[in-house]
Amino acid sequence: MLAEIKGLNEECGIFGVWGHQDAAQLTYYGLHSLQHRGQEGTGIVVSDGKTLKGVKGEGLVSEIFTANVMQELTGDAAIGHVRYATAGGGGYENVQPLLFHSQSGSLALAHNGNLVNVNSLKHQLEAQGSIFQTSSDTEVLAHLMKRSGYSDSKDRAKNALSMLKGAYAYLIMTETELMVALDPHGLRPLSLGCLGGAYVVASETCAFDVVGAEYIRDIEPGELLIINDDGITSERFAVSTTKAICTMEYIYFSRPDSDIQGINVHTARKNLGKRMAIEAPIEADVVTGVPDSSISAAIGYAEASGIPYEMGLIKNRYVGRTFIQPSQTLREQGVKMKLSPVRGVVEGKRVIMVDDSIVRGTTSRRIVTMLKDAGATEVHVVISSPPIKNPCFYGIDTSTKEELIASGNSVEEIRELIGADSLTFLSVEGMIEAIGKKDGDGTEGYCLGCFTGKYPTEIYPDTLQYYYQK
Ligand code: SF4
Repeated sequence: MLAEIKGLNEECGIFGVWGHQDAAQLTYYGLHSLQHRGQEGTGIVVSDGKTLKGVKGEGLVSEIFTANVMQELTGDAAIGHVRYATAGGGGYENVQPLLFHSQSGSLALAHNGNLVNVNSLKHQLEAQGSIFQTSSDTEVLAHLMKRSGYSDSKDRAKNALSMLKGAYAYLIMTETELMVALDPHGLRPLSLGCLGGAYVVASETCAFDVVGAEYIRDIEPGELLIINDDGITSERFAVSTTKAICTMEYIYFSRPDSDIQGINVHTARKNLGKRMAIEAPIEADVVTGVPDSSISAAIGYAEASGIPYEMGLIKNRYVGRTFIQPSQTLREQGVKMKLSPVRGVVEGKRVIMVDDSIVRGTTSRRIVTMLKDAGATEVHVVISSPPIKNPCFYGIDTSTKEELIASGNSVEEIRELIGADSLTFLSVEGMIEAIGKKDGDGTEGYCLGCFTGKYPTEIYPDTLQYYYQK
């Protein structure tokens, strides 16, 4: 059971198009711009109005979708997915979109997020005769829709979605329509755009820029959009909704050129860095950021503190992100392959090293050592987010509570473990103010679960058992 639950643990990107003759090509480019959200598998399903056809595989978008493969994907509508999976959830069968065929028609599903009641739903469905092809939680929605008893696809989707708990941004495509759904807390980002007369949907707005689409709006929590040849309609499947967008999307996950709920990610990160300069004033010679996600925060810190920003660390662009490597061995090896210090910048200097977060501490320790080996006289680590003390149940791989360095260690203990001269984290209040999101009702509308332990949804016992195992 543990492997099954661990298999639910994923962070992904989704992209969809309705009403464009180059739907598959646009999806290719959209997925390419979302590649940072998952590099282990990818797929595209197209609709020509009569049938659904899909191609998927384990690897990068550019590896799976060769020119020959793309020629086969014809149709005016498409959905696509890039996937990250932990060790228990890999494998071809779990790569999305998932495609189902039945006598009443076909259905393709692409999902970003993580359901927290998937095991109880699977038990119920199996007791009723369902057989699952994958260990992914995404498949549950297809079974719930099929068993709902409604004849109309919109009613089937609404009924099934109302049974799900957790984080989900779904693209649901049949031969004749594309449905788009976001969970009642809007935990994962999902935006709607247009390209001429076509509609596009993406996890991040950077995908719109790449395909030349115009941003229309974000999908609302608890909303079901139905897009077909007659246009677009919006329905609600959840009456009670409370916005709680994942704060880590601003801090780490999303691309700096994306806007989430009206806030540019680079600007949010820069403001987090500026706030750190107020909360953690340090005497030093140079500020540097851990590429790529911490550069914006480092620029913000430098700007607010007056200490010059320098490129003290260089990233090898042809190595994947260590945060998303599935095993500890690969993760440790990955740090060495990925980053190099710039000796000419750090030698003989007191360095402020800005990073966006500390998860297990391994990466921070290696970077501090690297900077000191390159001649830095002092390394002060400034983290532009609060300590991650609790696991994420909604699709971000922070692993178990025991693996999180901040769950069992004080700030001073972490400082010692990573070998830094000082270590400072951002306060929760500072983070909320720095990102600066304000919802219509005046609430901030963030998920802070991994920082505060207060989650926006109920967490089910079998999920807790895995994440808090000793
Ligand atoms: S628990 Fe943390 S990582 Fe998970 S959704 Fe909430 S803010 Fe994001």
